[in-house]
Amino acid sequence: MGMINAPTTDLTLLDNPPLIDPFGRAISYVRVSVTDRCDFRCTYCMSEEMRFLPKRDLLTLEELDRLCTAFVTRGTRKLRITGGEPLVRRDILHLFERLSRHLVSGRLDELTLTTNGSQLANFAGPLAATGVQRINVSLDTLDPEKFRAITRRGDLAQVLAGIRAARQAGLSVKINCVALKGFNDSEFEELIAWAHGDGMEITFIEVMPLGEDRADQADQYLSLEDVRRQLSATLTLEPISHRTGGPARYMRVKETGGRIGFITPLSHNFCESCNRVRVTCTGTLFMCLGQNDAADLRTPLRLSEDDRALMLALDEAIARKPKGHDFLADRLVSKPRVGRPMSQTGG
Ligand code: SAM
Ligand code: SF4
Repeated sequence: MGMINAPTTDLTLLDNPPLIDPFGRAISYVRVSVTDRCDFRCTYCMSEEMRFLPKRDLLTLEELDRLCTAFVTRGTRKLRITGGEPLVRRDILHLFERLSRHLVSGRLDELTLTTNGSQLANFAGPLAATGVQRINVSLDTLDPEKFRAITRRGDLAQVLAGIRAARQAGLSVKINCVALKGFNDSEFEELIAWAHGDGMEITFIEVMPLGEDRADQADQYLSLEDVRRQLSATLTLEPISHRTGGPARYMRVKETGGRIGFITPLSHNFCESCNRVRVTCTGTLFMCLGQNDAADLRTPLRLSEDDRALMLALDEAIARKPKGHDFLADRLVSKPRVGRPMSQTGG
């Protein structure tokens, strides 16, 4: 538009063009798992006796910073830090402090995290100070005993105190709730009233066929179509067009004025608009949550202190991002296609 001959001075951009996959989807959202460890053992996520990775396999905080920065340089606008439980990683605040420079420079729109909330009472203020504005907190029940049962060791009061601290620190909080048949399906209305009553959004997530081949994942599977139908009996759900670029679809609850999201990876294909990739705490890049193809980024990270090898590895990996995944609900009753738990991939 008349600017073709204008000299380009942004050499970084020339050297490091935005990451765009073969289907024209720009990679603008990266989830990074910073640890496989967790202080909870949610039954749908981890086994009781988890064996965690040796520390040397994990990316250091410096390596995580380099990796996230490489993605930001290549066009990532949103970074979500996850795990395992990100707030149990030692000195994790340093990573947020380092990454906040990209918010200041304007290259990054959002730095956020998904947490179980257990450590939030201590971390909410410092996180807000690094520029984090919105967080996701996972919470499946408001009953202390059921909470203890599903997390195998969590303390509901501690998580609720964490959520209060987050709100007081000015963070906007979205609740993530895994919908589990026979466990919390009688509580959905109460969870919505509680979340919306405090100005929080709530998103229901279907159990995904990840991790061990466990029969109870199939037993607990609840279609969000059924959840929606159940809620419609008592609440007026109005479809809204709000999208976040992710798999969630949103509705407004007329009675509360609040928003609820539904993440239905099993029942709907949301791949066409997929702008995201995930990196495990060992630096393995998964181009698609539903497929096993992956790229090792730790080797190029450790190969040298400059990022050339890393950038090449990113190019090669994104060129292999598949068009879509092939989750099927019926795989829940046979063998899950993807044998890694969410705590590894970073949900
Ligand atoms: N520990 C943090 C937390 O619980 O929020 C972050 C990591 S956790 C793996 C991220 C999200 O994945 C949580 O909301 C959790 O409920 C969800 N999740 C874990 N396993 C899942 C599964 N099998 N199906 C669906 N969601 C799952
Ligand atoms: Fe930990 Fe989050 Fe997995 Fe629960 S869902 S065990 S809190 S990583």
